[in-house]
Amino acid sequence: MANKILDIRNVSQSYRAPGVRGLRLQALRGVSLTVAPGESVALVGESGCGKSTLVRIAVQLEAPESGSINIDGVEQGRWKFRNRRFLSTQIALIPQESNASLDPRVTIGESIAEPLVIHRRGNPREREERVIELLHEVGLDSAMSKSYPHQISGGQRQRAAIARSLALDPHLLIADEPVSALDVSVQAQILELLRDIRKQRTMALLLVAHDLAFARSIADRIDVMYLGRIVESGATERVIREPAHPYTASLIEAFPNPDPRQRGDRSAPVGEVPSAINLPSGCSFASRCPRVQDVCREVDPLLETREAGVMLACHFPLH
Ligand code: ADP
Ligand code: MG
Repeated sequence: MANKILDIRNVSQSYRAPGVRGLRLQALRGVSLTVAPGESVALVGESGCGKSTLVRIAVQLEAPESGSINIDGVEQGRWKFRNRRFLSTQIALIPQESNASLDPRVTIGESIAEPLVIHRRGNPREREERVIELLHEVGLDSAMSKSYPHQISGGQRQRAAIARSLALDPHLLIADEPVSALDVSVQAQILELLRDIRKQRTMALLLVAHDLAFARSIADRIDVMYLGRIVESGATERVIREPAHPYTASLIEAFPNPDPRQRGDRSAPVGEVPSAINLPSGCSFASRCPRVQDVCREVDPLLETREAGVMLACHFPLH
């Protein structure tokens, strides 16, 4: 489909299980996800469900075991997969460890200019001007160009990482948990910045989060992921007001307040997450699901379209 910037189809990925010879850990099990031009999508799920794996595959930092990736309607060939950053100019990723994406040995200005250098954009003077523009766009002072990452705050480093990701004017920005490592007081500012940039640039955004309330403040659509699968997908307000999957409902219950400063110490939904190494048959949420029936432990529910724009994988949905 040419009208999608990113079209991920049926992608699976597994890794060698740590310490256990011959066993594989299933990180992604047939995940499909799309982002249309200008759209803002949130990918939400608990830690370890496969979000970062999916976005690494989307930007070709990693090749999937199976499935396909289309960017702007063009299928990405296997031969292109290299462990190289900025392979695609249409899609940019702010990696989860964005502090690590800024090389501690080079200045902020050099880090922001690096994608321009790799893609041979402009001469050194033009690049310097572009770096200043980008610094201003993310609310940083141009003097910061000469600073090293350790000389600035965590929030400033995240702003610099955003500036670097914008250098090639991507059509889609993927931000992998862009605020989870930051102080609570800084989190809202970074989200506000992402919202502003998206509006100014009419750029699409794929926001990875473990928290539905954050997703709500920025996304048109939410994809909920559990143990390497998308279990529910739909328009943000529908998903939050009327979650159909019991897992989505438990995530909302765990994070009821959009303001992190007013949260208690509630965190993830209850119950034990099964191991991605030895997944049980049937629905992978069965061991934690309040609505579980016998069939759930036997038959794995497929992700099905319920109505336009609403997808669900559950035998006994709430709606
Ligand atoms: P999330 O971003 O949702 O927290 P990840 O995509 O980082 O989840 O990880 C999904 C699963 O895959 C986890 O069980 C994680 O330990 C495993 N995993 C991720 N990357 C690797 C890797 N390079 N080698 C081995 N296991 C990995
Ligand atoms: Mg992650």
